Amino acid sequence: MKTLVINTGSSSIKYQLLDMPDGKILCSGLVERIGEAKGRIIHKTGEDKNEKKYTYDEIIPDHQSGMNKLAKLISDPKIGVISNVNEVKLVGHRIVHGGDRFHSITRIDNKVKEAIVELSNLAPLHNPANLIGINTAEQVFPIAEQVGVFDTAFHQSIPETAFRYALPERFYKVNGIRAYGFHGTSHRYVSRMAAQFLNKKLEEVSLITLHLGNGASVCAVKNGKSIDTSLGMSTITGLVMGTRVGDIDPGVIIYMQEILGLGYEEVKKILTKESGLLGLSGDNDLRSLSKRYDEGDPQAILALSIYSYRIKKYIGAYLAAIGKIDAIVFTAGVGENSALIRALSTQNLEHIGVALDPSKNEENSSVRRDISSRNASIKTLVIPTNEEYEIARQAYALVNEAI
Ligand code: AMP
Repeated sequence: MKTLVINTGSSSIKYQLLDMPDGKILCSGLVERIGEAKGRIIHKTGEDKNEKKYTYDEIIPDHQSGMNKLAKLISDPKIGVISNVNEVKLVGHRIVHGGDRFHSITRIDNKVKEAIVELSNLAPLHNPANLIGINTAEQVFPIAEQVGVFDTAFHQSIPETAFRYALPERFYKVNGIRAYGFHGTSHRYVSRMAAQFLNKKLEEVSLITLHLGNGASVCAVKNGKSIDTSLGMSTITGLVMGTRVGDIDPGVIIYMQEILGLGYEEVKKILTKESGLLGLSGDNDLRSLSKRYDEGDPQAILALSIYSYRIKKYIGAYLAAIGKIDAIVFTAGVGENSALIRALSTQNLEHIGVALDPSKNEENSSVRRDISSRNASIKTLVIPTNEEYEIARQAYALVNEAI
């Protein structure tokens, strides 16, 4: 079944067409700078060595036009992978915020669309864009069933003890202020893959999963279910991220406004766009930062030490929250590729049973693997994430009533 996975942002549409249930990627791409003076489409067909990349620079006035262009590309007589857009039978949308209303993948109807609008105050940058993606996909792929996978859904199993903030109750009851968590599709996917890797059922594994990309979060997975996660009501708390601050004393924010006289827009910009690794070192790309670290640059050493120390603190906290765990799982851009971050954040944890095999950790590989030393009682795994496949898998299971 040809299944299109779509992730619509405020000025972009990321897409991947898969043949389900085997998961073969037929094509993928990114329509970006929608509504800007210069738009761009990057379209890829084939996999690995046979991959072909096409780039088109053209004005893309709105999402409707972007969706039409990607539909034309995937069904183009020369480079297309299907002969007609009606071959697409299923469209799976990534939707950022499902609040406490969506626990699993959902068929999209008018009620669901209304809920996405109502939840927009929790994700003002993302939910409205996701809805535009749904509305345009409905027009461009009229035969296809549209389903939504919410980034928050996996974390709906988190108990109140973990998701409530110690604020006056009314802020929760009236305003819905609580931790919701994000990156759920990725945490769910790598948990499933880790269970497979360990030859266990998902309900039998307990894990600490570390999604370390530009955004980053850690999830406590007990018996296959999320019981806590480091992102909360917003996407700026928890781990140190590329440009986001992560955990911070709220008193600092009050100080910035009350004593330093900064306005709330300025504070927001500092916390979301100018902090994290960028704020500490002037650089938010782990590749160049690691090079600077190796060269002995003190700023880079401090930034990566703070980044790794925060991860280690969460490993300790979640180990206490879960009890016994089977494995720690590293995933996403940094988690999959940075041997340095994996080593720093698990350093000196032998006493709890975590120890890496340095040569396995250094190995350059893009497949899932065990990098722990032979005598470690808690395994450390690297599992490449695949959110598109996870969305397509859940969508296919839903329409085939396998969920
Ligand atoms: P993601 O958000 O999962 O795409 O991750 C993006 C981040 O992964 C980038 O900001 C880089 O810092 C990091 N990254 C990507 N490739 C590498 C690599 N080979 N080594 C270290 N970090 C990497």
